[in-house]
Formats: sequence, C-alpha cells, structure tokens
Amino acid sequence: MYDNEDPAPSRYDPAPSRYDLLVVGSANADLVVGVERRPAPGETVLGSDLVVHPGGKGANQAVAAARLGARTALLARVGDDAHGRLLCESQRAAGVDTGPVLVGGAPTGVALITVDPSGDNSIVVSPGANARLTPADIRAAGPLFAAARIVSVQLEIPLETVAETARALAPGTRLVLNPSPPAPLPADVLAACDPLVVNEHEARYILGILGQDAGSAPQDWAGALLAHGPRSVVVTLGAGGALVADSRGGGPVHLPSPKVDAVDTTGAGDAFTAALAWRLGLGEELAEAAAFAVRVGAAAVTRQGAQASFPTAQEVAAP
Ligand code: ADP
Repeated sequence: MYDNEDPAPSRYDPAPSRYDLLVVGSANADLVVGVERRPAPGETVLGSDLVVHPGGKGANQAVAAARLGARTALLARVGDDAHGRLLCESQRAAGVDTGPVLVGGAPTGVALITVDPSGDNSIVVSPGANARLTPADIRAAGPLFAAARIVSVQLEIPLETVAETARALAPGTRLVLNPSPPAPLPADVLAACDPLVVNEHEARYILGILGQDAGSAPQDWAGALLAHGPRSVVVTLGAGGALVADSRGGGPVHLPSPKVDAVDTTGAGDAFTAALAWRLGLGEELAEAAAFAVRVGAAAVTRQGAQASFPTAQEVAAP
C-alpha cells in the first residue's frame, strides 16, 4: 500500500515514479461577463468587465485532487495561446504535474458565459483543443497509465478518446468515470468503470427516465445502474449526499452530506469525484471513500467558484 505519511515533498518531485491519480479530460477557460439582460437574437448588449476562470471538468478534478494532497497528473490538450498558459499555471499552482498536458492543434477550449442579475446564464462552449485530444494521444501516453493507481475521465473529450483511456489501463488500475455531459456509453467502457460516478441528471439519462419524476426513487438507482454493466456505482444527490453500490457485493449504502450553507454548487461534483478517486487509490473501500468525498463536496459548495472553492485535506479533516 502507498505510504502516504509525507505526501507533500513527493508531490513536487519533478519525476514521480507513481501518481495517486491521473486525470484524463478537458481544460477550458471560462469567460464570464455580467449583463443586465441576455441579448435577444441580433441584439448587442453591454456587459461588465470580463472575468476569466480556469475550468473544464478534467482541470477541475486535477486541481481538487492536488489540493487534497494527491500526487496528480493531468493529461489534457490546450491551445498554444494565453488561455492554455493560464490553465497550466493554475494547475501547477495547485501542485498538479502538467508535464503530460499537450499543446496545440486548436485554440484552448472556452466557455463563453453571460450571467444576468438573477443568476440565469447563457453558455456557449467551444471545445477547441479538447476535441483534438485523440486516441493516439492516449496511446502515446502509455507509460503514464502504468504509473497511476487511479485514472479519472469525463466526457468533455471525444468518446473514442474515453474508450481508448479505458483500454489503456494497466492491470490493477481503477477507472473512475463521470459521464458528463451525458452521452451513450459503449458497453466496454461501462464495464471498465469502477465506479461510474453520476449525479441525478446523469443517472436519469442512463436509466432512460429523464424528465420523469414518478416511478423510480433515487435509492433504487444505484442498483439499477449496476445492471448497465459498471463494476460499481456512485450516485451523488446534492445536499442529499451520495449512494454507492458494488457489483461484488455491498450496498446500496447511503452516505449523508454534512449540512452546510450552500453558496455556489459549481464544481461540487468535480470536487466529490476527485476526492473519491484519490481515496480509492489509497486503498479505501468504496463507501469509506465516498464518505470522505461527500465532506469534500459539501465544503466546496460553501465557497464561490469552482477551482477556487476546493478545500484542502485539513479543511475537511474530521472534527
Ligand atoms: P453535481 O455538481 O455533479 O451536480 P451534486 O450536486 O450531486 O453533483 O453534488 C456533488 C456532491 O457535492 C454531493 O454528493 C454532496 O457531497 C456535495 N453537495 C452538493 N450540493 C450540496 C449542498 N447543497 N449541501 C451539501 N453538500 C452538497
């Protein structure tokens, strides 16, 4: 088992022999402008000064894990531009190894976000370089996969790249998949998930019950999702915490979330998934790792922003 007594020095080792977590995923610059009213077609409105935040589910998860103390590497693709440099700097500032980040091929992915005074927003995502992270990039990164205990992936990169990631796993390495944004998943990808991590919307999508309030209660979802092929399942339920179930037995188990004053839930799922993945890599059981992850998710919603809201391990230490 990994000796985690002194994680900090190895976190900055320029050539770590082993990562707790390899995140394969997206990196976006979120460009946010406040507006009095979102523009109608053909209309121009003036907005506030531009604010640029680092984002993208892959980049968020890598920062969340590193902030907790995990030795983390990010395999992503950014453009050879100012946004790409900003994203890499924010990763390094959190302690993420950005050595595997690929540069070029398209502009860095951006999310163009307008927010009105009521908090309603309109978002256009330009995937840019994220869409150019290819299966060949994954194959070329082969040795990285042998160096990671856990690989975490989401769906803001091409599905064939996600499928190649599942195939690239070294024996004994676990795949944590958060299917966001939801899309149909090939059977071999689902079968590699250990666990599949879904929020309520993603669970409904996979179960084919989107838009249906009746007929199925969340406590039944973990078991129902196992029938779709993953080795284990985690369903996050916002303030309701999380449910876990394992095809090898165990569960479903409900892990309640601590009660907190939620300020901004952006990135809560990314913080949860990163925390879960890290603790699984340290050898914890699924329910134990999820019990820690609900505390990390709850801490993240007490602060504004995504990456800016992610807690350190000390901040979520048991009282
Ligand atoms: P997503 O952000 O992907 O939609 P959830 O909303 O289910 O995912 O949140 C993920 C986790 O974050 C939850 O399991 C929980 O631990 C925590 N969380 C989210 N919202 C709240 C809240 N209002 N109060 C406490 N914890 C929360």
